[in-house]
Amino acid sequence: MSSPAAARPRGRHFFANPGPTNIPDSILRAIDRGSIDFNDPEFTPVYDAAYAGVKRVLRTSQHLFMYNASGHGAWEASLTNLMSPGDTILVLESGYFSDEWAEMARGHGLNVRVLAADWRRGVDIADVRKALDADTAHAIKAVCVVHNETSTGMMQSLPAIRDAIDAARHPALFLADTISSLGSLEFRMDDWKIDCVVGGSQKGLMLPTGMSFTGVSEKAMAAHANAKLRRFYFDWTMMLNRPQKSFIGTIPVHVFYGLRESIRLIDEEGLDNVIARHTRLAEATRRAVGVWAGNNGPHLFCTAPDRYSNSVTAILMPDGSSADALRKTVRDRFNVSLGGGLGKLGGRVFRIGHLGDLNEPMLLGALTAIEMALRIEGIPHGRGGVEAAMAFLAGE
Ligand code: PLP
Repeated sequence: MSSPAAARPRGRHFFANPGPTNIPDSILRAIDRGSIDFNDPEFTPVYDAAYAGVKRVLRTSQHLFMYNASGHGAWEASLTNLMSPGDTILVLESGYFSDEWAEMARGHGLNVRVLAADWRRGVDIADVRKALDADTAHAIKAVCVVHNETSTGMMQSLPAIRDAIDAARHPALFLADTISSLGSLEFRMDDWKIDCVVGGSQKGLMLPTGMSFTGVSEKAMAAHANAKLRRFYFDWTMMLNRPQKSFIGTIPVHVFYGLRESIRLIDEEGLDNVIARHTRLAEATRRAVGVWAGNNGPHLFCTAPDRYSNSVTAILMPDGSSADALRKTVRDRFNVSLGGGLGKLGGRVFRIGHLGDLNEPMLLGALTAIEMALRIEGIPHGRGGVEAAMAFLAGE
């Protein structure tokens, strides 16, 4: 028999993972209710408000389809609704999640071209242009980009990639994964002419995991009409024929009560203020890491300052120190949860999620726990990272 898990220290569990994220109490209260028939007229305004709210956060007036699935479901919907067997897509390598999306596409029989990149800085935009210019036959049907690479803490400029597609006069669809950027970082589906946006419930929208969605442009709907990959549960044409214009099967009513409250919270704060808060908290995190990097300590994984993510920071451990041992100390001693390294970054990187329902003391609590654990573990680092974060947040 396995031994029981050690009891967590008392006090609130500090959750500093880059998704799922903290769920505000008011969302928990909104979800905490009895069942209701999803065709009940009492539910219709809840659904409508939440649906319209997600479109506002996407900044789109086009189509939205939602699924009872985590982000992987929306990834699958984006590919199967837009592509046919053997179609070619171009995936811009950014890290673990771009690799996984590419792998899913291969699994669906697509011909995947990867624009390879160093995970610490991502692709060069000039190379995107070159790859599209070289595709004179227009074999590439879609360009797939992870807006905010959650595994590496790197954000890519979607407007710059849009410009590269336009400059090459290439007709490819533009697909963007916004799973860890939506509701946290600046994002504009219609202005940036994104054809398919993949989003999920459990990050900037502050909801439980389990619902995902795709914003879809008119251009993508036209491509969808000719797309032949097999699909059923995720089929947009079937969804369009449903009264709710989304969901095949039972609608997760509780998620919608939560989603309506999530949208209310975002509206109350103002989306621009939400984005500004994320920018401030991210900068404070980087100030702390910048100090820890002294004495050959843990340092930022992303090496491109103009691409630092404002929703997640990935931190590379010095050689000989384990990120997982540090995370274990942080969790066991201080009841703080951090994200681990994904794929080839396993054990070498830990990640601080600073997105969703988060304020200064919550972030400082997590940073303090990390700095204490660096001391406890005897990991070389510069002292005073939390002080630097405080000084920044105090406006000094
Ligand atoms: N894409 C990105 C950028 C992510 O961060 C994640 C999950 O963290 C996914 C896709 C996969 O989403 P899910 O785990 O909800 O299936």
